[in-house]
Amino acid sequence: MTTDTETAGDYAGQYVRPLVDRWDYLIDWDRRRQGEQGFFTELLAGAEAHRVLDVAAGTGYHSVTLAQQGFDVTAADGSAEMIARTRLNATRHGLSFPTVQADWRRLRESVEGRYDAIVCLGSSFPHLFAEEDRRAVLAEFHEALNPGGMLIVDHRNFDSIRRHRYQSSGNYYYCGNEASVSVAHVDDRLCRFRYDFPDGGVHHLEVYPILTAELSSLLAEAGFESLQRFGDFREEFRQDDVDFVIHVGRKP
Ligand code: SAM
Repeated sequence: MTTDTETAGDYAGQYVRPLVDRWDYLIDWDRRRQGEQGFFTELLAGAEAHRVLDVAAGTGYHSVTLAQQGFDVTAADGSAEMIARTRLNATRHGLSFPTVQADWRRLRESVEGRYDAIVCLGSSFPHLFAEEDRRAVLAEFHEALNPGGMLIVDHRNFDSIRRHRYQSSGNYYYCGNEASVSVAHVDDRLCRFRYDFPDGGVHHLEVYPILTAELSSLLAEAGFESLQRFGDFREEFRQDDVDFVIHVGRKP
């Protein structure tokens, strides 16, 4: 018998072509850039990172943005549909950087050498449902970093969502004006989001609703140090008030 969580664990199967086709309407690259205000670029530049691996490239928004800022970017994603879209968007922007289809659990089979920074953004990490996978993936990320390297990983504010207090200001990450995101179901093991698009398309994504403290602990246990947290790109924040939480850690 297949359980809900097992089906949801098939992240690549969730990113079907019609959803991938609509993804850029959901995020709206220009408005997302306004919301971020160069946050990731500044963090990476402050860490003197040059070689950056975007492990959840999706349609390529961060890979393209970072490549435009002069970072030496490699884009990876486990979904063939998504990484193909990254390639297309890179070409549209007149950019060329390595792209690779890679599942995080076997990351080092697919990428060469080590990186100054790894970014895993857009609430992608919650696609991991099993704690052993979360631990194994953080170990892969740690191994793929140079000493002193930086990991940036984020998630939606599941602390609030689990208390049925989902909010989205629409100013961060998923900024498309016309697409709407709602929570169709949440418990402590599964969160199902519903995406409604202006053309009538409806999609669902299922993820594990990771808590902020839970990810902080996993990062520390995986050997990351100098841990920092940001809420909607601000260091001072109240957990209840933010849409997204961003964790930053360094490999000693
Ligand atoms: N970072 C992009 C953004 O912010 O627009 C995409 C975010 S989307 C919510 C999550 C992405 O993570 C998808 O492209 C999915 O294929 C990828 N992903 C999820 N689990 C993965 C895994 N285990 N290995 C590789 N990629 C994975």
